[in-house]
Amino acid sequence: MSEEGKPEKGIFEKIHELIPGDAGLTSIEYEGPDVAIYVKNIACVYDDESTIKNISAAIKKRLIVRSDASALMDTDSALKKILEIIPQDAGVTEEGIRFEKQFSQVYIEAMKPGLVIGKGGSTLVRIIKETKWVPKVLRTPTMNSDVINGVRQLMFRESDFRKKFLIGIGKKINQPAIKSEWLKATALGGFKEVGRSCLLLETTHSKILIDCGISPEPGIKGLDAASGGENKAFPYLDSANITINDIDAVILTHAHMDHLGFIPYLFKFGYNGPVYCTPPSRDLAALLLYDYTKLVQRSGGTPLYGEKDIKTMLMHMITRDYGEVTNVTDEIKLTYHNAGHILGSGTVHLHVGEGLYNIVDTGDMKYGFTRLFDPADTNYPRIDALFMESTYGGPRDITQERQETENELMETIKRTVEGGGKVLMPLFAVGRSQELMLVLESYLANSNQYKLETPIYLDGMILGASAIHTAYPEYLKAGLRNRILNNNSPFESEIFEIAKGERNDILDKGPAVILASGGMLNGGASLEYFRAMAEDPKNAIIFVGFNSASSLGRRVQNGLSETALSGEDGKLESVKINMQVRTIEGFSGHSDRRQLMSFVEHLKPSAKKVYTMHGEEPKCEDLARSIAGRFRIEGRAPMNLDSIRFK
Ligand SMILES: [Zn+2]
Ligand SMILES: [Zn+2]
Repeated sequence: MSEEGKPEKGIFEKIHELIPGDAGLTSIEYEGPDVAIYVKNIACVYDDESTIKNISAAIKKRLIVRSDASALMDTDSALKKILEIIPQDAGVTEEGIRFEKQFSQVYIEAMKPGLVIGKGGSTLVRIIKETKWVPKVLRTPTMNSDVINGVRQLMFRESDFRKKFLIGIGKKINQPAIKSEWLKATALGGFKEVGRSCLLLETTHSKILIDCGISPEPGIKGLDAASGGENKAFPYLDSANITINDIDAVILTHAHMDHLGFIPYLFKFGYNGPVYCTPPSRDLAALLLYDYTKLVQRSGGTPLYGEKDIKTMLMHMITRDYGEVTNVTDEIKLTYHNAGHILGSGTVHLHVGEGLYNIVDTGDMKYGFTRLFDPADTNYPRIDALFMESTYGGPRDITQERQETENELMETIKRTVEGGGKVLMPLFAVGRSQELMLVLESYLANSNQYKLETPIYLDGMILGASAIHTAYPEYLKAGLRNRILNNNSPFESEIFEIAKGERNDILDKGPAVILASGGMLNGGASLEYFRAMAEDPKNAIIFVGFNSASSLGRRVQNGLSETALSGEDGKLESVKINMQVRTIEGFSGHSDRRQLMSFVEHLKPSAKKVYTMHGEEPKCEDLARSIAGRFRIEGRAPMNLDSIRFK
């Protein structure tokens, strides 16, 4: 192997010491935060189950064992062998098996990955021993997903690039750690506001961004690349005295535009470092970002970045599951914990230096009941400082019990439909849509309490987002996970009908329930339905999620009686809002005030300092004050551009 990317002596020596002599070690390489070894006789490494575990523990990194290219079975024979070994009902096809020579690895896509893995990994080990290729098993989503196919193909096509990239990152991370003299955080966006979330964490020689989003609101300067004026849509990166190439890593908490939307822009302007996220976040990010650029183009605007930049970002993503401890620089370790907010959403725990400091950033977080996810994790190794979302952090942000919430929804739907009207529910495609689908499915497909003869339409990105959920059942609550694993996915229930571009047909027909993407009525499917439905008092619009301060959704919630919207021909028309407007709280993917307080109370161990963010100014301030008062710890609501020195 070349000198470039050669691990430091300690790791190299430990591996030599612990690997069985007859494994025939040929090279040791970094693979991003992990270490990969290549051997001539991979079977012998798998003869003793503890070998890999012992080496991993000794080098304090994930160890990946791969075959030296000379040992690999030719791909035709290996393909035959693999199909022979895997049980028929695993749902593996010839096309679902792809060999990635750069990593001596074979991708196997399966409907039932469990059967490819086998009891205690036995089937996998058989494949490794007999073909010398190491399988990487991927779940085939139960619903077709162009996004997942696209992302998987991209990763496969770009193997050469990925290999070089990962070796380079590994080399950088594995420089001998230099002890930092100081540590500070700077609020670059999303403080005392909702949108453009971005936190810069700096030590003497590391710079990390947690989230880098945009404020996807109309009328905000800067979002359309062609508009001028003061920019309130992007994080204050240019004020931070850093250049794009100073950034060592970007850590994404979850795939919503207010946390994600600015990252491709970093790549457009030359960033070439890693973006850490969970596997579902990567796929959801692809879905949302491609859709965003299309939406801007369709409305005649100039998107901030193009498909090329989104692809570049995807190629630089390094995925980690909850609980995996990963070095993101020589001195900073990252671990994701479940945040309960959307699929793959994580709170971020960072351990800086050897016991120097521990920071937790909640991203968006739900510490309460949902049908999709377990509540946010409250167990961390240590929390010196907690950055906490405050979307519903105001003293009056107390939502009603879930059962009442669900009853209220079903009663509203029933009344509207029986009165001959239609119900519109504008929803964020990722998160609330799936939660509401689960509620509707549970009442309409499985109980006799509510009988609805009306169709339930899904429009916009909802279907694509739901499909991605079916590829990651392990990220969902146990009951839901089991239904997907047993081919009884509620997202594919026959109570749902897919609107395929026939919006006028749906609008011309009688009563219906329409779930449309575009949560705050800021464009997309929901706005089109709203324009057509608003004037009829028989219709109802039901808001179940967050509406930002200047969104049309918020203004409608607040009783707006008329608005100007561009019609089909693009001309502005006045639209009277006579439809019933309902807001049903309690479905949110954000914690309400009580849940936020309860989260802080249940943290183990407790947090020493709390900083509020991701909320309107009075909410951030009140929550910080209340936390400080009740728990007798430091509680503050920083504003954008504030820096806090921790060490
Ligand atoms: Zn979010
Ligand atoms: Zn958010």
